Amino acid sequence: MQLLRQYAALPERFSTPLQNRPFRAPAIIALNEPLATELGMSPEWLKSPAGLSLLSHGLRPDSFPPLAMAYAGHQFGHFVPSLGDGRAMLVGEIVDTHGKLRDLHLKGSGPTPFSRRGDGRAALGPVLREYVVSEAMVALGIPTTRALAALTTGEDVLRETLMPGGVIARVASSHVRVGTFQYFAARGDQEALRVLVDHVIERLYPELADSPNRALALLEAVVERQARLVAQWMLVGFIHGVMNTDNMSIAGETIDFGPCAFLDAYDPGKVFSFIDQNGRYAYGQQPDMALWNLGRLAETLLPCIDKDTDCAVKMATEALTGFDDIFGEAYLAGWRQKLGLATEQKAETTLISRLLTLMHRDEADFTLTFRQLCSIVQTGDTSGLLALFKDQTTVAVWLQDWQNRLKAENISAEDRAQAMRAVNPRIIPRNHQIEAVITAAVGGNYEPFHRLTEALSHPFDDGDDGFDQPPAQHERVQNTFCG
Ligand code: AMP
Ligand code: MG
Ligand code: MG
Repeated sequence: MQLLRQYAALPERFSTPLQNRPFRAPAIIALNEPLATELGMSPEWLKSPAGLSLLSHGLRPDSFPPLAMAYAGHQFGHFVPSLGDGRAMLVGEIVDTHGKLRDLHLKGSGPTPFSRRGDGRAALGPVLREYVVSEAMVALGIPTTRALAALTTGEDVLRETLMPGGVIARVASSHVRVGTFQYFAARGDQEALRVLVDHVIERLYPELADSPNRALALLEAVVERQARLVAQWMLVGFIHGVMNTDNMSIAGETIDFGPCAFLDAYDPGKVFSFIDQNGRYAYGQQPDMALWNLGRLAETLLPCIDKDTDCAVKMATEALTGFDDIFGEAYLAGWRQKLGLATEQKAETTLISRLLTLMHRDEADFTLTFRQLCSIVQTGDTSGLLALFKDQTTVAVWLQDWQNRLKAENISAEDRAQAMRAVNPRIIPRNHQIEAVITAAVGGNYEPFHRLTEALSHPFDDGDDGFDQPPAQHERVQNTFCG
């Protein structure tokens, strides 16, 4: 395993080198051994004192300092010209066994010059939440940063109460965000923007290297990846929670799992995040918010797109227009798959929206509804699905229409059920389960965390672990926090 210094080689104003500050008693709670192996890192070495120093406070074997990356961001619509890694560090880059460059990054590793009034730490709860959810996203087939390790630090952090501190070691295709571009644009630093465009294309979009207009091509490519990503979120009921521009990855990966959550009952207006009082990032708002963020990215790129501002605006606007088409197509294709439809017909949008309206009206569980549709295809038994709804007569009418539509396609029930089960998970990381896992872990018992993580590594398989169950009334989680 060799750690590179790629981001560190960019101009000095892109990042700040950090001192390594050891924790009192760091210990690994979870090590993602398959990911470590994929990175060419020996799990045994990672568990050694040298490995523990790397994972907890970013001490590299070559003693090269880790970095706090500079970025800005729109937080809930308000621009903050300097945010940066305030409790995180980029340790370096690794070439994985597929030859792909990946960032190794720590969160909760201590204060940096960007910490402002924060303590630079993370509580164990959010660390475990990120581990569970990001690895669940991988298994659901959704682009995401990954969790390499979760650690306790042996030090407490003050949140609402004293909580055990934690660090997550995560791996990403890159940690460049929309906010990274905004940081330099806010300073009128055209030179840095050009360097950043080149860096991102070389690393993430090499196919664009010879484009006649590289900045425009980059914008189009990021629009496409983000549109596809958000469509995938919507199709599993994922709510990111804090889609600020500093939490939107240029690589098109899900990043920064703060107060994120999955829908239980279907509700397009659903918000869990305590800090999102106005519902800016509600489930159903996410496509609009992604496009809004991409608009902010486009603004930073205008001078690189064309010297003539009117021309640049025209081209950038056109690139942004692509979002709705790409999102719409990915979203509709995803819904067709979820409903087991192999062919396209205009009437699908009505069929889908009718079902969603009924689900919303009756607070039907999102994941269970679609998993039950798989069972209906397989066994013909509709009772499990109907039991999820309050007014079953209207649902029965919908079912009849759906089944008639299926009959028009020449596919065996078995093949269709199998295809549907491959896109409609049995389990997703439900909030009440994550809370239960965190409560146990804070009390020193990591067993529930390991059990949940293991189950979520094969979310499409059948099982009787009980993780498919929605929360009972008293288990419902109203709010999630950043930590
Ligand atoms: P986030 O909400 O994690 O996306 O972070 C937004 C900004 O706040 C980033 O610049 C973070 O580095 C910073 N931040 C969040 N929590 C802390 C903390 N505990 N200490 C210092 N900075 C923080
Ligand atoms: Mg610097
Ligand atoms: Mg963030």
